Amino acid sequence: MENSENKDSSQCVRVAVNIRPLVTSELLVGCTDCITVVAGEPQVQIGSHAFTYDNVFGSAGQSSSRIFDEFVAPLVDALFHGYNGTVLAYGQTGSGKTYTMGTNYNGEEHNGGIIPKVMETIFSRVNAKKESTEFLIRVSFIEIFKEEVFDLLDPKPPVISKGDGVSLAKLHVHRSPIQIRETVNGGITLVGVTEVEVRTKEEMASFLLCGSLSRATGSTNMNSQSSRSHAIFTISMEQKRIASCPPGSVHDDSGDDILCAKLHLVDLAGSERAKRTGADGLRLREGIHINKGLLALGNVISALGDEKKRKEGGHDSLGGNCKTVMIACVSPADTNAEETLNTLKYANRAR
Ligand code: ADP
Ligand code: MG
Repeated sequence: MENSENKDSSQCVRVAVNIRPLVTSELLVGCTDCITVVAGEPQVQIGSHAFTYDNVFGSAGQSSSRIFDEFVAPLVDALFHGYNGTVLAYGQTGSGKTYTMGTNYNGEEHNGGIIPKVMETIFSRVNAKKESTEFLIRVSFIEIFKEEVFDLLDPKPPVISKGDGVSLAKLHVHRSPIQIRETVNGGITLVGVTEVEVRTKEEMASFLLCGSLSRATGSTNMNSQSSRSHAIFTISMEQKRIASCPPGSVHDDSGDDILCAKLHLVDLAGSERAKRTGADGLRLREGIHINKGLLALGNVISALGDEKKRKEGGHDSLGGNCKTVMIACVSPADTNAEETLNTLKYANRAR
């Protein structure tokens, strides 16, 4: 098995397409469905174009749980074996990224999306292995907006000052970005990012919710910021064999005493930005960052915290298996056909 880890991971992305149903607002204005899924094939047709992916999930309900089973569960399994993984939700604003990822999960069980399923799976497995393994599970939740990183779990409240008027819309929220530092071996660390230890699924869910709320209130213009920023929910797991258990019984495929790995769950900025930016300098820059850097971003995300992981014996590569999954989200509405085509093309190149 070749082991040029970073290369392997960037070359191997599994891609799922998720087509959400037409939403009420689209139905009300008479939008029609412009995407055809080829029966029994992971293929979609739009106009004269046809694309094939690892799989395509249509609007017929429960697609989050099917995407979880086929694309994300293997990464959760890998996490328990010490491998990092990344799930990226890509697509235009309104295409269903947040819905599919479950980034706004509020504790209700139905239709929770991928992240709630991840949490459930992790903790049922942790509970089953408690006798033989000590687990330390932490979460962090950050937002990348333009080139700055914000800590969504920062316990310090942001500084709120009043603008000229008294209306809520004029309140200014000042958040200080996190410092980004390069490590000696080319990795990246975020200085002082909050990592909270969680012991139950409920605790983990509460931090997801907390961070989502903090993301939504972090700007005076909620919609614009959340569609222009990447949100990264990271679950890090350390496993230690309990001394009384015979060596090899827990970490039988590695022999390491401590296994550390991270799973990054990413709700990306709206993919439409690059094209709409036009002459506006600032927004153009933003668009370029968002789009040029996407797969690079996946790699950067995977590299976060690598230094520590190396020391403690995690693994970088699954040896041929993919550890990056992209879920390309699209609207079927004819009015979104152009953006949908862009997303489908992009996702096709990612494979
Ligand atoms: P994005 O995060 O990409 O901007 P959202 O996840 O907010 O998009 O979804 C936009 C709208 O579409 C929301 O009203 C959401 O409830 C709805 N939606 C998205 N995916 C689905 C789905 N699979 N089934 C039903 N409604 C969906
Ligand atoms: Mg969203």
